Amino acid sequence: MTETNAPLAITLRNCAKTFADGTRALEPLNLAIDAGETVVFLGPSGCGKTTTLRIIAGLEEPDAGGAVLFDGTDVTALPIERRNVGMVFQSYALFPNMSVAENIGYGLKIRRMPAAQIRARVAEMLGMMRIEKLADRRIDQLSGGQRQRVALARALAVRPRALLLDEPLTALDAKLRDTLRLEIDTLLRSLQITAIYVTHDQAEAMALGDRIVVMEHGRVAQIGSPREIYQKPASRFVAEFIGTMNRLTGRAENGVFSCRAGRIAWADLPAHATEILFRPEDIRLAETPEQASLRGQVAAAFFLGDRTRLFVDVGEAQPLVVESAARRDFSHGEAVGLTIDPRGLLVL
Ligand code: ATP
Repeated sequence: MTETNAPLAITLRNCAKTFADGTRALEPLNLAIDAGETVVFLGPSGCGKTTTLRIIAGLEEPDAGGAVLFDGTDVTALPIERRNVGMVFQSYALFPNMSVAENIGYGLKIRRMPAAQIRARVAEMLGMMRIEKLADRRIDQLSGGQRQRVALARALAVRPRALLLDEPLTALDAKLRDTLRLEIDTLLRSLQITAIYVTHDQAEAMALGDRIVVMEHGRVAQIGSPREIYQKPASRFVAEFIGTMNRLTGRAENGVFSCRAGRIAWADLPAHATEILFRPEDIRLAETPEQASLRGQVAAAFFLGDRTRLFVDVGEAQPLVVESAARRDFSHGEAVGLTIDPRGLLVL
């Protein structure tokens, strides 16, 4: 196999997947992934993320009529070992009977690289992942975070043209997840490798993705940058899957939205809006509650250290989520005034 570091452009053309038992895992998907881009597939369990990744890897064939293109060349019939992509799984999938160094060098050995070169490449990878001291350990002597570093090193050792990652951090505890997420982000950017990352964790998707593909029941719900997905969700599903969304119901008249909590003036208010949505960061407690145009009562308050997360009852089915950095406690039933930043308002 020729070695090359040039990142790969990947195109999915009309890729659907129906399994033998009739399960329709993926509706026809068209997607162009740029060379060097990090694309994150995000969605709830069973929405088809892994199936899409496996089609790209060559572990799964798309239904008839679907095609996978690498740099414009059709690779649909090419098996995984000839696609030159690296894979990292949630389960690590390391060889338990081999040492760390042997695991990392495995793909090179298969490719019949001379032993001295393998040693040099393995040393380079151990250094890149900062696990030099673990070279001779067995896999069962490693922590979860160390195993995932070995899995990354093994995938990258063959200098793949694309890296495919399937929930690589899910098995790790929260703090380690944060650390490794940052490391993966730094790594992907410094290597400028095309990366496809599957997760159901929206924070992970926002942090890593140049673009996020939000999936729902085998369909693409939205494709966009993290900011687009968060600030301009295309549907209620996307709006509610990513982050927290507040909702007020009421009616629109002459640029004013009236609801149980009060009135909101918004120049861009669509005439037929019966519901407006906004994020917690776009609503805040008014300094003078009596003069605020929206009113409610504190239903619950959770002190989080750097801020307090308030649930404010405004007569809707769900309380509003509001955050406050005020250095004081809030009492249940306390009357509060609220101010909304109209730039954060959405109507879907
Ligand atoms: P998760 O986050 O739980 O891994 P996912 O979004 O990655 O979910 P997929 O693994 O792609 O979802 O599965 C999509 C759908 O296809 C699911 O309904 C799943 O049960 C089904 N599925 C996956 N593999 C097979 C198979 N080999 N045979 C039949 N159905 C399958």
